[in-house]
Amino acid sequence: MPLAKNPPSPGDLRRDCICARCPTYNECTRKGKELLYCFEGKSACKLERYGCICGSCPVAKRKGFSGVYFCVAGKADVK
Ligand code: SF4
Ligand code: SF4
Repeated sequence: MPLAKNPPSPGDLRRDCICARCPTYNECTRKGKELLYCFEGKSACKLERYGCICGSCPVAKRKGFSGVYFCVAGKADVK
């Protein structure tokens, strides 16, 4: 039987999220170990927009997300 290709698990997605390298990601988000805003929604922290690198994220590419600042604006539209 051929091996089924499993969809990526939430753990895989978290590992691929590059938010921790973003200039907007701050002390508070780091402390809260926040990631994957495109799925989990806005940050609980107060954030200043210093740029968003979601455009070069493998998760965004895989899922076809074109938005930015999910940490401020909330989840991406998942179809
Ligand atoms: S698109 Fe942005 S929020 Fe979503 S996983 Fe990538 S870097 Fe994180
Ligand atoms: S959602 Fe965009 S702006 Fe927010 S931390 Fe992730 S990469 Fe940076």
